[in-house]
This record gives sequence, C-alpha cells and structure tokens, in this order.
Amino acid sequence: MTSTAIPIGAHLIGGEWISTGTSTTTSINPARPDEPVGDHPVGDASTASDAVSAAVDAQKAWRDAGYKVRAAVLEKAAILFEERADELAMIGTLEEGKMLAEMRGEAMLSAETCRYQAGIIKMPTERIYPSGKPGETIRTLRAPLGVVGVVTPWNFPILIPVWKIAPALAAGNTVVWKTASNTPLVSVAIAKVFEDAGVPAGALNLILGPGSMGGAMIEDPRVDGVTFTGSVPVGFGIRDAVTARNGRVQLELGGHNPAIVFDDADLDLTVPLVVAGAMGSTGQKCTATRRVIAVGSVYDELVEKMSAAVTDLKIGDGLDPNASIGPIVAPRAHAEVTEGLEKAISQGAEVVATASAPDTSECFFAPTLLTGTTELDIWTEEVFGPISTVVKVDSEDEAFALANDTEFGLSASVFSTDMWRVDRAINTLEAGIIKINAPTTGSELHVPFGGEKASSGHAPREQGDTAHDFFTRTRSVYINPGTPNPYA
Ligand code: NAP
Ligand code: MG
Repeated sequence: MTSTAIPIGAHLIGGEWISTGTSTTTSINPARPDEPVGDHPVGDASTASDAVSAAVDAQKAWRDAGYKVRAAVLEKAAILFEERADELAMIGTLEEGKMLAEMRGEAMLSAETCRYQAGIIKMPTERIYPSGKPGETIRTLRAPLGVVGVVTPWNFPILIPVWKIAPALAAGNTVVWKTASNTPLVSVAIAKVFEDAGVPAGALNLILGPGSMGGAMIEDPRVDGVTFTGSVPVGFGIRDAVTARNGRVQLELGGHNPAIVFDDADLDLTVPLVVAGAMGSTGQKCTATRRVIAVGSVYDELVEKMSAAVTDLKIGDGLDPNASIGPIVAPRAHAEVTEGLEKAISQGAEVVATASAPDTSECFFAPTLLTGTTELDIWTEEVFGPISTVVKVDSEDEAFALANDTEFGLSASVFSTDMWRVDRAINTLEAGIIKINAPTTGSELHVPFGGEKASSGHAPREQGDTAHDFFTRTRSVYINPGTPNPYA
C-alpha cells in the first residue's frame, strides 16, 4: 500500500482481507466527530476462532522457515514502517487524536523495534552446558510458544502492537491480534505493513471487534500464550482465564506514577519535564505522572511554576501544528475523565491551573493541575487523562513511603541533584521504571519495560531482549552420538 488512501477496514485472516462481519461500524475522529475516518466490519467469537485456526495452520511452516527468513521479513517491515510513517501517522492521528508528530514517532520506533527484534534472533540466545558423559552435548533450544494472542489498547495504537507482534513473529510464533475498538483502521495499516513485508498467510491475523471477541480468542485452548496491554480489570480477567488452562500470559496494566520533587532540583529544568509527564499525549499514557510529591519548601514555587506551564499548554486537533495536546480518544473516555475530576473537586481538591480547550469537539479536555491531600480518590485511582495532583510532604522518608503507597508500580520519577538521595531512591522505590531528573513517561525500546504490583504480571518484561524470553519456551536437549566410543 503506497497510496495515501486510508485502508478499507477489514479483518486479516489466513492471508485474506475480510470486510464482512456481524455488523459494520465507523471509526470516529475525536477532534472532528462529524468527519468519520472510515468503516469496518465487527467480528465475534466465530471470527476469533477462524483467526486462531489460520494461526494454527501457519505456525509450523513459519517456525521452520528459520531465523534468517523471519529476520529478513522483519527488516523489510522496518523499511516499510519508515516509508509509510506519514501515512500511518495520519490514520492514527485521525482515529486516536494524538499529535501527528508523536504518532509519526510511533511509526519510526516501530521500524526500530522490528530491526532490533530481527537482531535478537541472530544472537546466541541458546546455551551449551557441560555434560558428565563423554561425547554428550547438552544444549538449550528456544522453541516458539506456538500461537500467540495479542490484545492491545488504543493509546499507542502503532507502537504497542509492534512491541508485541515483532518479537512474537521473530521467535517463530504465529499471531492473532485483537486490536482496540477505538483504533481499528491504523491497525489494518499496520497488518498491511507486515503482510507486504512478507509475513506469510496466517502468520499474522488481525480481528476487529469488541472485547467479547477478544475474550473468545484468549479462552481458545489453541492459543498458547497471550500478551495484553490495557486496564487492570480486563487484564486480570485475561490472566485468570489463560492461566486456568495453563497458558502463558504477559500483562502491562495501569499505573499511578509519582514524581517526587526535592528542594535541590533545578525547577527550570524540572517543571517542563513534570508537566510533560503529566499532560503529554493528553495524559493517556500508562506511565503518565498522576501524582506530584513536593518535599518541603519546594512546594509553593513548584505549584506556581507548574501552574504557569499548564495554563500555557495549547490544546487542539492533532493535525494543528500549533497545538501540543490533542483530544481525549472518545466521548465515553472523556466522560470518565470528567467524572474523575468532578469527584476530586467534590472531595476538596483545589484546581490551581487549567489550560483552555477548544469547544469544537466534545472530546477536548482542558489539562488540569490539582492540589489536595492523599484522601482524594484521584490520589489512588487511575484517571486516564490530563489531570495531575500535587501533595506536600515534609521529609524524604515520607516522600518515598507515599510514592510506594499505591497498588501500582509502573514508573516513578525523582527530581534531585543529590546523588546520595538518588541512590537511596532507586533502591527504595517500588516501580519497574525509575527515572531520575526525567519524566515518568518515555522509554527506549531495547530496554526491558514493565511494572510491579498491579501494573504488570510476572512474565518476562516486554521490549529489549527479555521480549524473546516471553515468546519462547526453553527446552533442555541431551545429544549423544548413538555409536560406541571408538577411543574408549
Ligand atoms: P482496556 O479497556 O483494558 O482495553 C484493552 C484491550 O482489551 C482492547 O483491545 C479491548 O477491546 C480489549 N478487551 C476489552 N475487554 C476484553 C475482554 N473481556 N477480553 C479480551 N479483551 C478485551 O484498556 P483501554 O481502555 O483500551 O486502555 C487504557 C488502559 O491501558 C489504562 O489503564 C492504561 O494504564 C493501560 N495501559 C497500560 C500500558 C502499560 O504498558 N502498562 C500501556 C498503555 C496503556 P475494546 O477496545 O474493543 O474494548
Ligand atoms: Mg476500555
């Protein structure tokens, strides 16, 4: 696909693009709801079952194609992600709302992910062990899991799917991808990249439809492993269903990430980073800064400077080069964020700053900075939008204890130039990602990514070389010559 036309919505099953379903629905642009992005079919349990059958049928040939073929396909996909970055970004921004440049960044990082994961399968990921028997070789084999179910959210509609699909395919698995209902058409364009790169029929299947269709897919006993990113309740439900049938499951779930600011931090450097972490991508990042913990005397100046920065944010259409924050993804999500804010205010939170949002779509939401106490529900519950709350504490001990006082453990930031304090922070904070003088958001794709506590499951981390661990099984192989030892 080299045209700039938005692809027609369709499932990809066994190499066929299927544009029929139980019904048809329309993908909506949250910045311009009166300009629909495009139609697509809605699948159900039978669609999921067909896709699993196709993945089962394709699996052995894809495994046996060998690492060189699979790496070459992923390297070609990397080239296509770069060539089609503008087109993918346009579709993604129309559907999801984020700034075009950020969406383009997702496409470029997808290219890098494909290259990196192609490189991983050329590395010596297997091991040789000493044997007690003459002539015997003991080695490990990294076999693919088999058929992998991929379930993804809408907030990184290009990159999160590729984080999962690229390492799954690289390891020789075949994939059934249930994408988010808010971002179906960019998913079609991503599947087309992999198809055009040479992923054979049935090795990657994309199904469009509701959560219940995803539920049918993950319950299918032919699906050996499931990798999921999304909310805690859905993730825990998937974990229970998949582990009950002894399948393997990888979870990336919510977060309630703190940024701790000490009085020795340089506020001119710190404030833009904290605000970017809190409000960037409309606060719709699992790693967004929901809680700001100001330690001691820094509180007043921090709130004042953050307020000025929040007030200055420019909200608008993701295609508007003068804007930096887009709309919330959909009216229902907007209603949930609004409800979270109203509840916080009714519980005594003080609104210290808001930006101004256009009124041309009901999905625009003014980023809001709150101050308050730890008694607020918003201090403990994830509200998935551009709202952050500042609370003051008196000591370092209190700050670390408060940062850890959450069911989540995805990311945490510390702003301080005292390296002894930083050393203590990195040994004390309960988070899978710890950032020092950097936002809670953002990661590099060759580095393991994931959280602790309710933010993740217990499987190996996504991204980096640990991604390969989730998508493979280790087999220990003892190889003997099978002939008498002529030297004995
Ligand atoms: P969600 O409601 O949990 O949905 C995620 C995916 O699961 C979607 O594809 C959804 O389909 C599907 N789904 C829903 N019910 C299902 C079921 N019963 N069985 C199988 N699949 C089902 O999450 P979201 O609202 O899209 O995303 C926001 C959440 O994701 C936030 O909590 C955020 O923190 C988290 N997140 C975490 C990370 C991380 O790496 N830790 C990254 C990004 C986002 P539909 O779209 O059709 O409902
Ligand atoms: Mg949802």
